[in-house]
Amino acid sequence: MGEEKWLVGIDIGGTTIKLAFITESGEIISKWEIDTSKDGSGSSVVNDIGRAVRGNLSELGKQPEIITAVGAGAPGFLEMETGFVYEAINLGWKDFALKDELEQELGVPVAIDNDANIAALGEMWRGAGDGAKDVLFITLGTGVGGGVIANGEILHGSNGMAGELGHITAVPENGWLCNCGKAGCLETVSSATGIVKLAAEIIPSHPESTLKPLLEKEQLTAKDVFVAAEKEDRAALAVVEKSMYYLGFALANLANTLNPSKIVIGGGVSKGGQTLLKPLIDVYAKFALKRVYEAADIKIAQLGNDAGIVGAAWIALEAKRKA
Ligand SMILES: [Zn+2]
Repeated sequence: MGEEKWLVGIDIGGTTIKLAFITESGEIISKWEIDTSKDGSGSSVVNDIGRAVRGNLSELGKQPEIITAVGAGAPGFLEMETGFVYEAINLGWKDFALKDELEQELGVPVAIDNDANIAALGEMWRGAGDGAKDVLFITLGTGVGGGVIANGEILHGSNGMAGELGHITAVPENGWLCNCGKAGCLETVSSATGIVKLAAEIIPSHPESTLKPLLEKEQLTAKDVFVAAEKEDRAALAVVEKSMYYLGFALANLANTLNPSKIVIGGGVSKGGQTLLKPLIDVYAKFALKRVYEAADIKIAQLGNDAGIVGAAWIALEAKRKA
C-alpha cells in the first residue's frame, strides 16, 4: 500500500499566513504560521509560502511528492476559476495571479477562494456543519464575512461576489458608513466594531452600566459587552439584543431563500455563545418561515482558527476530484 498523500491548506491573512499538511480525509498532520510579508507584494508572500512548505516537509522527513494539491484562501475580491485576485485591501494586493504563481512555486495544482468561503467549507467538512450540504456560514469578527454552501458547493455568483453577507443592508436609512463605501451594512452593526459602536450609542442612557467607565476610556470591546450581558447588565443586554436583531433579521431572510440545514456562526464575536445565540434565535424564529426554521440548526463554529486551513485543503481535494 502506498503512503497516504497530503494536501496543503493555506489561509493567507493580513498579519499571518496559516499553513497545514492535511490528509485527504481532513486530519491535520502538522500546522504552523508565518508572518505575512509587509512589502505588499504577492510574489514575496508566494516565495515565503514555498520556503515554509519545503522546510517543514524536510523537517518531517518527507519528500515533496507526498503533496498532491494545494488550496489557498485570501481576503479580498477574487475569481476562483482563474485564481486571480483583483483586490485584497488588507494585503495591499491588486491584480495578482495568485493561483499561477503558487503553482509555479509549489509544482502542484492550486485552488484558491476567498477567506470566508474556505472557512465555511472547513466548517462544513470537519466542523459545526457536520457534513451538511446546505450551510449558511457567517463570521463575525472585525468585519463580517460569509459563505453560502448549496448542495455541497460554495456559491460564487456571476462574478465571484456571492456570500458577501456582511454587506447586506441592515439599516436602510441613516446607517453608519461601511468600509465598502455603502452605509448601513450588516457589518456596521453585527461585527465586533459594530457592537462597540452600538454600545457607545446605548450606554449613555444607562448611567448605572458597568461598561460606562470602559466606554469613557475608549477601551470597550465587544467581548466586554458579552461578559457584562452575561451578568445581566441592562445596557449590555440592550446592545446584544439590538445587534442580534439585525443579524437574525438578515439570516432569516437568507434562510427563507436558501433553506439551509445548518447556520454556523464563527469569528471572535461568536465566543459570546449562548448570550448571543438566544436573542439571535428569537429574532430568527420570528422572521423565518416555520418549515425553514425547523430545518436549520443554528450553531457556533467549532474549528476556530483552523477553519480556513481545513477548508483550503477541501478546495484542493475538490479540484483534484474534478480534474
Ligand atoms: Zn458594506
